Amino acid sequence: AEAMSKSFQTTLRVTDPSQKKKVAIIGGGLSGLSCAKYLVDAGHEPTIYEARDVLGGKVSAWQDADGDWIETGLHIFFGAYPNVMNMFAELDIHDHLQWKIHQMIFAMQELPGEFTTFDFIPGIPAPFNFGLAILMNQKMLTFPEKLQTAPPLLPMLIEGQPFIDAQDELSVTQFMRKYGMPERINEEVFIAMAKALDFIDPDKLSMTVVLTAMNRFLNESNGLQMAFLDGNQPDRWCKPTADYVEKRGGKVLLNSPVKDIVTNDDGTINHLLLRSGEKIVADEYVSAMPVDIVKRMLPKKWQNMPYFRQLDELEGIPVINLHMWFDRKLKAVDHLCFSRSPLLSVYADMSVTCKEYADPNKSMLELVFAPCSPLAGGNINWIGKSDEEIIDATMGELARLFPTEIANDEKWPATSKQGPNGQAKLLKYSVVKVPRSVYAAIPGRNKYRPSQTSPIPQFTLAGDYTSQKFLGSMEGATLAGKLAAEVVANRALGNADKPIKDIQQHIVDAAASYVPK
Ligand code: FAD
Repeated sequence: AEAMSKSFQTTLRVTDPSQKKKVAIIGGGLSGLSCAKYLVDAGHEPTIYEARDVLGGKVSAWQDADGDWIETGLHIFFGAYPNVMNMFAELDIHDHLQWKIHQMIFAMQELPGEFTTFDFIPGIPAPFNFGLAILMNQKMLTFPEKLQTAPPLLPMLIEGQPFIDAQDELSVTQFMRKYGMPERINEEVFIAMAKALDFIDPDKLSMTVVLTAMNRFLNESNGLQMAFLDGNQPDRWCKPTADYVEKRGGKVLLNSPVKDIVTNDDGTINHLLLRSGEKIVADEYVSAMPVDIVKRMLPKKWQNMPYFRQLDELEGIPVINLHMWFDRKLKAVDHLCFSRSPLLSVYADMSVTCKEYADPNKSMLELVFAPCSPLAGGNINWIGKSDEEIIDATMGELARLFPTEIANDEKWPATSKQGPNGQAKLLKYSVVKVPRSVYAAIPGRNKYRPSQTSPIPQFTLAGDYTSQKFLGSMEGATLAGKLAAEVVANRALGNADKPIKDIQQHIVDAAASYVPK
């Protein structure tokens, strides 16, 4: 990651002013910001056009009437995020990360209110620290179960990425059955892991996703160590990036939605049309929008090109992010917790874990509600339910996680949300629905993730869903933005384009008969 970052300031940097490019970047999420950052490093002039009045996309956040921050998602950073860590170092904001003790905390399914931990002993290198953490935990898996789990995972260590990539056609559940892993591993570990990684159940999630994550964690001693940002993402990460870009000649524009990509007869881009009617002409154009929006915005001339038709195979998964403020301090830990509840994924008491949200008297739980549509697992379309229904269901789950502090008693008035025995009272809540979040990493999707290089000469794709070795994540978005900047920077220097990733034959065949709309 570091070497690639340096290349923008050295080998990829323009020396002749005539090589400097005006680059229009559509979207001010992490990928668009990363692309702009590395383009100014290489001496170019990027402008970000962000549709909303806030930067960050899926990490955006805003304040409610009381001044409390509402986040699009509860976000966790991992030690195994090399490009994010490198960018934080370059922006000199490493101290904005609050690192937590190297541990994973799981709620015990049959024991309400009880938790079990996997502890990583400092000083023990990977992968031994991982192995030891699993061996030392006596509560989740028996010793024979641990022994049965190891052999199917060995090829990942020996063969590496080719083995991992080859498992993309299998769901986690299919992989487990194929390799004779005990069913209980699914209930004890994989359900929690799948919901945390992609907001979906293991029978829907590609095994490649789990193996990729495990491989990173097994290879890096601090790979699984987690950090929270010390405040809201727009101020604590997006703003320093935008300031960095603007100080070096780039621009970051809010409230600038792009309505159309307008093409010439030969399919090359003529200009971008903003919703305001303004026309934007640049030397190079980068889309850093989510895949679902790119699909809707494709110009007619591009619609029967196989490269763009493969995007039909990718689709954002719905997820819901909850904030719940209670009238007292709950017995919560300063860390992320895997809830292992059927409705919830991970959660944290942000009044404890995050400096800016600290409150000595009240707890604010931030929770990821998943899976929340049949596409992701389960059979209830939670994304279509009312906020009240979602909060009621969550209170039921919280009563299991905090049995002495939160009540799930149908008798209590739904409006006050207070238990009958003086349990914690829910003061207020906020429900953020993201109907299309990260692309659904269901089996077989990797081969459709497009390369950043596109068949249109001045058009490049960024965004977490594009082809890079990480899942849709902050690390994936940052790396994809960097790879897109690399494509533009290389082209500016007259270097050959990185080849377009191979496209599946059935996509090529279908594209030939596609009638553009
Ligand atoms: P986006 O963030 O979607 O950015 C796209 C941008 O394009 C947006 O700002 C959008 O407004 C803009 N845009 C769209 N259309 C237009 C237009 N027409 N004109 C101009 N602008 C436009 N990742 C982790 O690593 N760890 C986590 O713990 C984690 N938790 C998450 C929890 C939740 C609930 C969610 C939703 C996501 C989570 N993620 C997590 C994933 C992570 O947030 C995303 O992978 C990443 O932020 C995606 O960045 P992006 O730039 O690719 O896309």
